[in-house]
Amino acid sequence: MAVIERVVVTVFTTVTHSYVDEHGHRHPGPPREVTEALLTITDADGASGHCLTKPDTVREAVVSGYLGPALLGEEGFDRERLWHRMARRQRGSQGAFSDRALSAADQALWDLAGRRLGLPVWRLLGGARAEVPAYASTMCGDDIPGGLATPEDYANFAKELVARGYRAIKLHTWMPPLPHGVDRDIAACTAVREAVGPDIELMLDSYHWYSRSEALTLGRALDELGFAWFEEPMEEASVQSYRWLAEQLRTPIIGPETAWGKHMARAEWVVAGACDILRVGVVGSGGITPALKAVHLAESFGMDCEIHGNGSGALAVIGATLSGRWYERGLLHPHSDYDTPPPHLRSIVDPLVDGKVRMPTAPGLGDDIDHDYIAARTVATWESRLR
Ligand code: MG
Repeated sequence: MAVIERVVVTVFTTVTHSYVDEHGHRHPGPPREVTEALLTITDADGASGHCLTKPDTVREAVVSGYLGPALLGEEGFDRERLWHRMARRQRGSQGAFSDRALSAADQALWDLAGRRLGLPVWRLLGGARAEVPAYASTMCGDDIPGGLATPEDYANFAKELVARGYRAIKLHTWMPPLPHGVDRDIAACTAVREAVGPDIELMLDSYHWYSRSEALTLGRALDELGFAWFEEPMEEASVQSYRWLAEQLRTPIIGPETAWGKHMARAEWVVAGACDILRVGVVGSGGITPALKAVHLAESFGMDCEIHGNGSGALAVIGATLSGRWYERGLLHPHSDYDTPPPHLRSIVDPLVDGKVRMPTAPGLGDDIDHDYIAARTVATWESRLR
């Protein structure tokens, strides 16, 4: 047992081959330098846990104002107690201490525990499965030649993904600022179904602000095409709209993804009958600790819970539980190389083998961080230290 002595955010430069448009959607692009952040929590024995995140998420004021005061001097193994200790400080932060920052700290604490015990986190949390089928999750539609600009582009890419071993594909279709709409979505979904045949499972994550009637029209087309789920076609704050939609479609409704409220919002969705498959993310919903509660909640209702997003935190929850079928591998694009790690990682945590991803075997979360690269490209260090 050892108390937490240091909470450090290391901001460093790295290289990405993508850009994010004005609505927050990622697309492939030429290589460019970006800044990323590594949150490190270190205890009195010198053991550390890490989580990669964004500098904006764990700003200097978040480290000195919330993470440091909540964690320094506390026993690092007490993850449940520390999660509540941190989460209770969110209300008074007036939005400054976000669920994403809470998640980064929670993940770093789980990484620390796993490293101290010599166990991968998924095994420490339950050890339910050592591998999981992956679905290919595409980037959003674009206007890039040979990219994801037309229904035919989606169909061609889907055939390529099946050739790589995927047995399931999720389309993210067109979003603002590009032209978007139900007709375009139906055309892309139809083209992909015709391209891959009936045996590949397909899911749709569409434009998120359709009206009820637009979502119903799109959902009925998915019913005809035999889709495995329909994700976030409407504003998720309107739980009753999802209940209304789920009652009328054969295609399972999955949600919520972005709705505020951690595991508690998921309980409301289940009781309201607003989804057929539950959804929670480790990064967006406050960490591994609340995501596990959502998965166990779904299991208690005989439902699947599918984890939103890729990465080591998602694998930790998926490997620890059984009520969910898939790992979301992506985002993928015809012009993007998902399998080559960014320069600050020595390897990716989720290589695809026969359509599946194996759980990491290294102690902790399993991210293969190149600490030498980060040390050589550090541009800022924000630290809270026990005195
Ligand atoms: Mg989604």
